[in-house]
Amino acid sequence: MTAKTTRQLDEEYIAHTYARFPVEIAKGQGSLVWDTEGKEYIDMGTGIAVNAFGVSDQTWIDAVTAQLGRFQHTSNLFYSAPCAQLAQMLCEATGLKKVFYGNSGAEANECAIKAARKWAEQTKGPGHHTIITLKNSFHGRTITTLAATGQDVFHQQFTPLTEGFVYADTEKPEELAALASAHQASAIMFEAVQGEGGVLPLPVDFVQAMKDAAAEQNLLLIADEVQLGNGRSGAMYGYMNLGLEPDIVTTAKGLGGGLPIGVCMLGQRVADVFVPGDHGSTFGGNPVVCAGAVSIFSRLTEEVLAGVRAKSKLVFDTLTGAEGIESVTGMGLMIGVKTKKPVKDVVAACREKGVLVLTAKDKMRLLPALNIPDDLLREALARIAAACA
Ligand SMILES: *Cc1c(COP(=O)(O)O)cnc(C)c1O
Repeated sequence: MTAKTTRQLDEEYIAHTYARFPVEIAKGQGSLVWDTEGKEYIDMGTGIAVNAFGVSDQTWIDAVTAQLGRFQHTSNLFYSAPCAQLAQMLCEATGLKKVFYGNSGAEANECAIKAARKWAEQTKGPGHHTIITLKNSFHGRTITTLAATGQDVFHQQFTPLTEGFVYADTEKPEELAALASAHQASAIMFEAVQGEGGVLPLPVDFVQAMKDAAAEQNLLLIADEVQLGNGRSGAMYGYMNLGLEPDIVTTAKGLGGGLPIGVCMLGQRVADVFVPGDHGSTFGGNPVVCAGAVSIFSRLTEEVLAGVRAKSKLVFDTLTGAEGIESVTGMGLMIGVKTKKPVKDVVAACREKGVLVLTAKDKMRLLPALNIPDDLLREALARIAAACA
């Protein structure tokens, strides 16, 4: 009997929560990856915005392996240097005051929701727990972050969900203030660019409505920077491009460079909301993960951010108005492309031509490494354009 292939084992033993592409990754280097049949691809997905500086990034590997050689874990009952160092870097870069570590975007958002609820109870009194989130948003897959996610398709068959969320329509900024006061809301949670929702930047008038409502009704602003954060927007965090000063910022994907991390950053108004026992995580703040994240975060220099903006412009200039392309949206290197052909066919054609791309709803989604070399990016865009035409 011959050994079963990875694909057969996967089909047999892994819960069918994912529709996988028919590719088995064998290895990668920078923005190139190879499958087990030896086919080379330009990676325009980076494991969903995770591999910030590409695959097998040596600086990150060195940081991670050095920490592995010291100790791999200690629990949050003890101090550890990488954990503290990363927290300092995050706070200094954002002006936020304290961080809590989890292991995923959903956990970062769970922490934000707990912080907002406790703050609301303390400062506004009972009954002010409702958080406004946005229609078409995505905040995670746990029961509470699903409730925060403003898309019915994710809710069906998983009810009852956690109470305390209402959804605002970003196309109707004039309704936001009334919605917040009708529900005695405590906070508004938003993505500067809705990623899973179709790579849609928040409309400017909605951003203004959030600012106004937050100021008038003493609401917290919670920025979900899980996908867009850590340099991908061309700024350190996407909200910085919108002139917002959120009270809570969550981030995850790109920060760990490939290892699981989720961070909830707490600003002045909520910095001291938690006391020992309020929240926790066994793996959160793992020293190996944090050492890797320190390596990633310390390299998000103004030069790298300027590179992201230049590469973004190259993508927009190349694809906007190209044959078979209806629209190009996004910010920095988080880009959505509406194609005339069905997106599924375009993604398959890209794969055929040696480019790995993702989707977001009915769009193609591009999330290349922040340091993808310009010549590789041009080559990827040429192949993508050909697949769209
Ligand atoms: C991916 C994502 C999440 C969920 O992160 P997980 O690590 O999968 O839990 C939350 N919010 C946004 C905006 C995301 O893109």
